[in-house]
Parts: sequence; structure tokens; C-alpha cells
Amino acid sequence: MKNLKLAARETPDRTTVSVDGVEVGRGFIVIAGPCSVESEDQIMETARAVKAAGADMLRGGAFKPRTSPYAFQGMGLDGLKLLEQAKNETGLPIVTEVVDPRDVSWVAEFADVLQIGTRNMQNFSLLKEVGRTGKPVLLKRGMYSTLEEWLNCAEYILSEGNPNVILCERGIRTFENYTRNTLDLSAVPAIKELSHLPIIIDPTHSTGRVSLIAPMSMAAVAAGADGMIIEVHNNPEVALCDADQALTPERFENLMKRLRPLASYLAESVSEPAVSRRGKNEA
Ligand code: PEP
Ligand code: MN
Repeated sequence: MKNLKLAARETPDRTTVSVDGVEVGRGFIVIAGPCSVESEDQIMETARAVKAAGADMLRGGAFKPRTSPYAFQGMGLDGLKLLEQAKNETGLPIVTEVVDPRDVSWVAEFADVLQIGTRNMQNFSLLKEVGRTGKPVLLKRGMYSTLEEWLNCAEYILSEGNPNVILCERGIRTFENYTRNTLDLSAVPAIKELSHLPIIIDPTHSTGRVSLIAPMSMAAVAAGADGMIIEVHNNPEVALCDADQALTPERFENLMKRLRPLASYLAESVSEPAVSRRGKNEA
């Protein structure tokens, strides 16, 4: 990929993005929360639940890029203030989407991580603007994009002087329609070959089905992902956005109990051969 000056992997070193004490790129980190911020009760209850289950950051959209202009578009500034309140109580850093270059500077005052959604992956003026903030950016893969196109979008952010880019595989469009999208898990090891940037997965938007979220999350851990971003709602039945794919706090807690041991097991078993290889070279 000849045009990549900053996003390409040139040495074995991997980039770690620091978010308020959470190191993305070291271990398996979990970002959880509702699709959109809907009310004080909803975000506070969900934030407390995901924190108790072991999440590392809180997600929640205040600006929603919806397919229909008549669908709920998010609470805007009021939503950001509620996220701030949730952060003040739980200590969880905030991940929230920005959709308009004109909003970047003030949304960045509330966000610890600025999310660029799949529909905006190639919104180059938005990419340059988030690049100028220097804040961590979660760059989702465009639903029709190749890895090369995606990494070039990361390059837009990096070339503005912002090294804090986290990639997120959130599923691509294929002919399959049982799932909402197709989770391209091969993107995880492929990106690790091509780039030094951390990569997480989104098991929610990629599957669109509650029953598939846990197995695909476990598979992502095994594939070497650096974490995941997952939708959890205190009461999915009344969610204003993506109700069919949100986990209840109970399901989320159950998943976390299964996921953490797998992540620790793999972290230990992957580091073992490296130790013995070193031993062999020394001998
Ligand atoms: C989201 O995370 O809420 C979202 C809209 O995701 P995507 O851009 O992947 O559809
Ligand atoms: Mn959603």
C-alpha cells in the first residue's frame, strides 16, 4: 500500500492509544453503552451497569446518522451533558460520534474518543477536523470499503498530526441478509499485518442479532482484536435506536464473565512461544 506513510506497519512495534488511563492496544478493552443517549435515567442506569460488569469506556450517540431523516437523530448537546454526568459518576471515559465537521471542536470538549461512523469514513473534511483536535479517534470501517481505503482514511487523521487512531471493524455489506452486515474477522489479523494501529470490533452493528453477539465477540478475542464496542441498553424493548441488537445488562455481564478468562488465557498462551523463541536465540 504505497501511499501509506504513517498508517503502515514498518516495524514490529504497535501503537497504543491512551484514553484517560485506558490503554487501547494493550489487552482487550471493552466499550459498552446504548446506541443513543435517550434520557438521564437510561444513560445513568446503563452506565452503572456496564461499569459494574467491567467495561472500560462508555459509548452513547448524541448525534445519530440515521438512514431516514424522520428517525430519532439524537439529543445533541443535552445528550453530551448527560454523558458528562455519567462519566463524572462512573469514571468511564466517553466514546461518542461526531457527524459534522462544524461540531467537532465543541463535541471534543465532551468526548474522550471521537467516533467516526461507517457512513462518514470517507468524509475527508470531517477526518481532517478530528485530526486537528489531537483527540483519540475511533474510525469505523466504511460498510463498502476495502482495507486500503480504510487505512487511507486513517492516514488523513494521522497526517494532521494526530497519532491517536483506533480502527473498528463493524461489518461490511455482502449478499447475506440474515445478519445486518457481515463481520469481516479476517480484517483483524490483516490490519495487524498492514498497520501498527490498534483494531477493535463491533459485534453489534455487524450482526444485528442479539443471539450472534456473544459468539462473535469471543471469536474476535481469538482473532487478536484489541477490544470491542458493544451496544447495551438498560431496557432494549423501549430503545429509540437499534432496539433489536442491544444487549440487556444481564446478557452483557454474562458475556463479560466468559470473555475475560478467554482474553487472559490467550494473552498468556500467545506470550509463551515468544519467551521460548528468545530462549532459543540466546542459546
Ligand atoms: C453506532 O455505533 O451507533 C453506529 C451508528 O455505528 P455504524 O457507524 O457502524 O453504523
Ligand atoms: Mn447503533
